[in-house]
Amino acid sequence: MSESEFISSLKELGLGITEEQINKFRVYASDLLSYNEHTNLTAIRNLDEVYLKHFYDSLTVYNVYKFTNESVLDIGTGAGFPGIVLKIMFPDIKLTLLDSNNKKTTFLKYVLGKLGIEANVINDRAEKYYLFGERYDVVVSRAVADMSILSELAIPFCKVGGAFIAMKGKSSEEIDNANYAIEFLGGKISEAEEFSLPKDAGERTLVKVEKVSDTPNGYPRVYDKIRKSPIAKTRKIK
Ligand code: SAM
Repeated sequence: MSESEFISSLKELGLGITEEQINKFRVYASDLLSYNEHTNLTAIRNLDEVYLKHFYDSLTVYNVYKFTNESVLDIGTGAGFPGIVLKIMFPDIKLTLLDSNNKKTTFLKYVLGKLGIEANVINDRAEKYYLFGERYDVVVSRAVADMSILSELAIPFCKVGGAFIAMKGKSSEEIDNANYAIEFLGGKISEAEEFSLPKDAGERTLVKVEKVSDTPNGYPRVYDKIRKSPIAKTRKIK
């Protein structure tokens, strides 16, 4: 997807874009590709793919959540997806980018400086950062873990009344399997929107979980427990 195709495609999502935002995307794409030549941040190595598989894909979240000025946490953001893309389009959100990989958070700080964008960058694992007590209106996450595991990493961070949005591939079975964990953690799936990216670039499912009640104490557990014993009806969970 070229830059001009990206701009037209935003109209279909119901989004307008300014010259300043177009420029920010140019700088972000160019810095991502050049930094990626010496530090492995993404498997994507050409400009058209950055526009389609990183920028456009990140903005599809808008289909299930209309951002204004919420506090937003992006768990496992990598090189900033979807978080930085959302912040470029919705500059009033209060963004926190969280990743356990130091190489990636170093890039995030560098590129945010180049873009003149303010965001908190946290180099930590989600389940450890949780202990600092911050809670958010919206938690987003793309391509980080299986839905049951991801739900335990993400739902505890949402304020009651807030939302968790998981950006998944075509994964209805994975989502069905996670339903018990989601409800156990205080969430409720309100939307699961399936669609295809343009240019046969893949199938996607956006899962929107509303936080309807407090997460029980003791969650998220340490990662070893989350991974070896995901919350499920048939399993012993502690
Ligand atoms: N969200 C980005 C994207 O879609 O391009 C990056 C996806 S990458 C496949 C997964 C990222 O999640 C990695 O950068 C990894 O370091 C991070 N990650 C995995 N588990 C994590 C955890 N428990 N806490 C924080 N970051 C985590």
